[in-house]
Amino acid sequence: MLAERLPGLLPDLGDHEAMEVTAIHSLSAVPSSAVSLRRRPPFESPHHSATAAAIIGGGSGLPRPGAASRAHRGVLFLDEAPEYERRVLDALRQPLESGELVIHRSGGTAAYPARFQLVLAANPCPCGKASGKGVDCTCTPTMRRRYYGRMSGPLLDRVDIQLQVERVSLSAFGQGGTEEDTGTVARRVAAARARQLERLGPLGMETNSQVPGRVLRGQLKLPPATTRILDASLERGILTARGYDRVLRLAWTLADLDSHERPDGNHVGQALGLRQAAAAA
Ligand SMILES: [Zn+2]
Repeated sequence: MLAERLPGLLPDLGDHEAMEVTAIHSLSAVPSSAVSLRRRPPFESPHHSATAAAIIGGGSGLPRPGAASRAHRGVLFLDEAPEYERRVLDALRQPLESGELVIHRSGGTAAYPARFQLVLAANPCPCGKASGKGVDCTCTPTMRRRYYGRMSGPLLDRVDIQLQVERVSLSAFGQGGTEEDTGTVARRVAAARARQLERLGPLGMETNSQVPGRVLRGQLKLPPATTRILDASLERGILTARGYDRVLRLAWTLADLDSHERPDGNHVGQALGLRQAAAAA
């Protein structure tokens, strides 16, 4: 449910983005059907039984875009992520780095844009009962490790936020709380995006996710006191160089959501914690 709400938090697509997204979707549409300009970020949730071609792209003849490209500028959601084919999960590493999927087939090579937000959901174990007190779970530690092992370390290294979500108790369910609605959060996201555009526009970028490491550690370099915890994690081998840059991008986003000029030590610590929350649990 959280994953499906995510596109609702994203701002409308700009003219250029809307054209890109519409063009990709028109390639998978029924020929001659009317194509209208898509202004909203797409949401794609292919089932784990779908073929690699359906998710990554491919098919006979000239390669066609798959769900990953149709999720361009939007959200790609893989429910029960360990159940997907290993080669599908591994193939997602390329677009997470470059925002593009290059597909080679006998009919030719095609490159499709695929800059999406990836959301992976997984049960705590193969039987799915290990959350909370986990009384009914019969999985061995080896079974759990193998289950998670299907999602490779290099893939998870590209996942910025890793959260353990507790089972909803019956008493908490359905109680109207103090939750914010989608519109309220969407306005906060829009304000954070505006801050990013103001800062990054002169550098030819729009969002923190697009900022290369050399800019993060160059023009946007933070004081050593702010990144101390991060530098220590890198030195101790807890964090990869790629992970280091990804934590910095997330810290900038947290600062933007807080209307701060730049991240402080708390933002950096929070970003690092969000990355490791599931691993620590
Ligand atoms: Zn289990």
